[in-house]
Amino acid sequence: MFPDKCSVKEEGRNCLNPPEFVISVLVEDGEYMVGVTCNRHKGAVSGKIQILQNEGKIPKGTINFSELKPVGTDCIKGNADDLIQL
Ligand SMILES: [Zn+2]
Repeated sequence: MFPDKCSVKEEGRNCLNPPEFVISVLVEDGEYMVGVTCNRHKGAVSGKIQILQNEGKIPKGTINFSELKPVGTDCIKGNADDLIQL
């Protein structure tokens, strides 16, 4: 259901750390999932999402990090197939 690695791609290389947080954006009609990240990339991802929001690539809303859990994702939209290029 979730990728088994951090979604971050740094300097052309995928981060191989296991994901620790689900990154999502809280919008009016629910929650838009952006990807997953390890603890090390949490801050960098947060900044990157703001840029993507300004570019209109991700819905504007509150950036939310939740600890990765295997359940409770029924209302999450979007997908985490795209890597986040830093
Ligand atoms: Zn990472």
